[in-house]
Formats: sequence, structure tokens, C-alpha cells
Amino acid sequence: MKAWFLRSLKKGIVTSSFPSGKNEALSPWATLPMRDMSGEVDCPVDAIQDDRVDSGKCISCGICFPQFKPSMQIPQINMVRVEKSLSKSMKLYLFDSGTCGACNLEIMALNSPQYDMNRLGLSFTNTPRQADAIMITGVLTEGMIAPLKAAIDSMASPKIVFAVGACAISGGLMGKSISEITGLDVQVPGCPPDPFVIVAAIEKARGRI
Ligand code: SF4
Ligand code: SF4
Repeated sequence: MKAWFLRSLKKGIVTSSFPSGKNEALSPWATLPMRDMSGEVDCPVDAIQDDRVDSGKCISCGICFPQFKPSMQIPQINMVRVEKSLSKSMKLYLFDSGTCGACNLEIMALNSPQYDMNRLGLSFTNTPRQADAIMITGVLTEGMIAPLKAAIDSMASPKIVFAVGACAISGGLMGKSISEITGLDVQVPGCPPDPFVIVAAIEKARGRI
């Protein structure tokens, strides 16, 4: 107990000031992929088009390595609308429609001391009835279509629908996009997206940045 306490004191405050400050520890693998276009690559999800890598499709399989490398730039976050009425506080409901688990871990990391979502007025809820936003991860799977529709229908307005990760946006390697059954207000690209990218998407969706 004593060692733990002293270690905490030595480490100091680990919470990021992002988005007011810099995102000081962006994960390279979650940044916009850059690709040297020399040589042909058989991308399994057709993410490479017109000399660019689409972060909403790329599943970070690494087949195009070493031509593939991180840019350290945040990928484009696609926004359909901004909901400023949720700028003070927002409850998030996480919905896994069929993931490998990594997107969920990155979202749950927002609760860690490093990102400390509470400082931004964000919290998780276990019920869509209390939620202002639903964060859908994973490919659209048959068994989750009805629960997903029911969850979105039970949310009060205004609500924001996030698709988090390439699987939810485009269906990944073997699935369908979540957009086949519902409109998507915000698309957060990456496989998985970095927590800083998720924070940026949330803050943009609330008109705070
Ligand atoms: S890492 Fe894989 S999915 Fe991404 S662009 Fe390269 S080949 Fe395509
Ligand atoms: S986008 Fe990538 S990290 Fe997220 S569920 Fe799909 S494969 Fe896993």
C-alpha cells in the first residue's frame, strides 16, 4: 500500500489535457496510414484507392507492410451533424455488434486516469434509455440487428449515433456496415481508433472543438 502510494506521488498527474492541450501519446498504429505506392498490394478490404488508404476500411492487417506506415496524423472523422445541446454532459452507451474486442478496449480506456472522461462531462451508462450517445463497434451481425434497433429506438432525443472503428464503418473483412440498418452521425476511423481520436470525435460531435 505504501509503495503504491509513493509510486503515485512520484509519477504525478498523468491525465491528459487533450483537447485543450496536445495529444501527447497518440498510438502510431491508429494514425492515418501512409503508403508508398510502389508495388502492388492485394488489400483484403479494398482500402487502397486512388493512391490513398481509407482509414474507414483499413483493418491494419499489415499485408502492405513495409509500404504501409503510420503518418502520426489523426484520420478524418466523418461528421454528419453536431449536437451542441450535449456539450455540458453526455452519457455513452457502448454497443458491441461483433468485434475482436480492441475497439471496446480503446473506448473503455477513456475511463482511465490518462484520459479521464469525467473531466469532459462524459460517463458510461449500461442502459440505452439513459444514454445520449450510442457507440457501436464491430461488424453488423444478424443476431445483433434486432437488439441494436431496439437500443437506438429506446434512446431519447437528441441522440448521437457513433460508428467506432473500421468494422462498424465499412464491415471490415467479412461483415456488413452498421449503416445498413441505421444512420451514422459520426464515423470514427481506425483499427482500432486511438482513445485520443475517440475523444476528438466526441468533442467535435458536441461542438466543443
Ligand atoms: S494494412 Fe491491410 S487493410 Fe490496411 S491498407 Fe494495408 S493491406 Fe489494406
Ligand atoms: S475495427 Fe479493428 S480493432 Fe475494431 S473490432 Fe474491427 S478488427 Fe477489431
